Amino acid sequence: MRCPFCQNEDTQVRDSRPTEDGASIRRRRQCPACGARFTTFERAQLRELVVVKRSGRRAPFEREKLARSVAIALRKRQVDADRVEKLISGIIRRLEASGETEIPSDMIGNLIMAALKRLDPVAYVRYASVYKDFQDAKDFQEFLDGQMSFDEETDELDFADKDAK
Ligand SMILES: [Zn+2]
Repeated sequence: MRCPFCQNEDTQVRDSRPTEDGASIRRRRQCPACGARFTTFERAQLRELVVVKRSGRRAPFEREKLARSVAIALRKRQVDADRVEKLISGIIRRLEASGETEIPSDMIGNLIMAALKRLDPVAYVRYASVYKDFQDAKDFQEFLDGQMSFDEETDELDFADKDAK
């Protein structure tokens, strides 16, 4: 696998083991060229999902894209890679379990927000600011003021990382 940091064509697997829930394999990799270490996960793909954007445009659902937006929200936050992986798997399981092949992008955004809220409050507000397109401090304030009602709406979405300590 190519190094995401220096684009070297080959990286070495240093460690390989199943994740806690047994749903995927976690590999620690190291790049021989630049020395960077990173983690990859291998898992079964169950169904092909299609994302329907607000514009009505359709695109194949990509786990990597979801993972990237979560990673951006979590930048420089101390959150274990296993917990992030579990959060992403939890969201995807929910999408697959919905029984729909076409998933509105808003539904994905709301699931990410609900999951991040339980994982890391800073990442949650960061993600919300991008997703809800905050323009200024007033938007942040209104968003935080509105949190009471959001809590009530998302109580049922308690799938993310329930057993985290
Ligand atoms: Zn490298």
